[in-house]
Amino acid sequence: MPLACLAVLASASPSPASKWAAHAPPAVFSGADTVQAWCANQPRPQFAALTRVPAPSGWFQVYSVDSGVYAIAESHQWEEVISYLIVGTDRALLFDTGMGIEDIRVVVRALTDRPVAVFNSHTHPDHIGNNWAFDRIYALNTAYTRANSHGWPHGAVAAEVTPDHFCGPAPTGFDTAGYYTRPFRITDTVGNGSIIDLGGRRVQVLHIPGHAPDAAALWDEAHGLLFTGDTFYEGPIYVFAPGADADAFAQSAGRLAALAPRARKVLAAHNVPVSDPKLLLRLRDAVAEVARAETAGPRGDFWTQLHVIGAYTMSQVPSPTIDSGTTERSVLVTYDFGAFSLVYRHRVDGQ
Ligand SMILES: [Zn+2]
Ligand SMILES: [Zn+2]
Repeated sequence: MPLACLAVLASASPSPASKWAAHAPPAVFSGADTVQAWCANQPRPQFAALTRVPAPSGWFQVYSVDSGVYAIAESHQWEEVISYLIVGTDRALLFDTGMGIEDIRVVVRALTDRPVAVFNSHTHPDHIGNNWAFDRIYALNTAYTRANSHGWPHGAVAAEVTPDHFCGPAPTGFDTAGYYTRPFRITDTVGNGSIIDLGGRRVQVLHIPGHAPDAAALWDEAHGLLFTGDTFYEGPIYVFAPGADADAFAQSAGRLAALAPRARKVLAAHNVPVSDPKLLLRLRDAVAEVARAETAGPRGDFWTQLHVIGAYTMSQVPSPTIDSGTTERSVLVTYDFGAFSLVYRHRVDGQ
């Protein structure tokens, strides 16, 4: 039974676009929500409540999301990546540098004349694309981070820039055939709890592994701002890419939820720039619910697990094709909790 059903799913679902997968490929996870539908929904309605800031770029869209804090969105590409510029009196911090499809410095320089340092929510390629252009890079001291500082080759990111991944044409002059993630040089290491002082504004680094080994949040306690990277955003949250750790993710979700009562705004790295901190409580509860359901069902029996989680809408797709051209013996399972969903990998035995 499982084998036959999986075969049907395999033929019915297009291949996920990327094996490292930063956030949801809409054509895979949302069924009728095709890439074209995604494009028609740009910008997302949530942006209407924000103040748009003029920016010298046809690629980036800049929004004021709090005093001295700007969301820099790349809404014309299906990742819908959002980087953040946090401006202090002495210097500024750029939390992620985007896809590297266009040079983010043009926008950053228009927003501040202070020195700008970079820190990344993690080093998946959709967030480090312009790191190379900055001479001060804070990073966690992890082997994963150091490895990714060497960049990502064209083959790892090529699927991000095929025509159907753009809303409209690719930027003029952008070389899709040569696109890759350029290496960068780490200049300063930070750890969990480190404070980055921008002058008049201090942000704290929280190491929250799970989505990736070097996943990090930024906590601006004085202003109640919590930057969550890919550990929380409104959309399908990936807990399955290489380096993901479901147990660590559960712990990290708990740490973010503990800050929710003191947070005014959650600022995430995809899709929607400002979210209600109460969603972090739902994230914590959702992770626990998934864990309870998984332990209740026999491991390896995917279809039993489907029944156990009957309270939630679920979908499943075969796992991405890996480099060797073979398919791993696992499926991706999406647990849908409304404003967000959680995507896990399940081993399938006997395939
Ligand atoms: Zn991402
Ligand atoms: Zn990611």
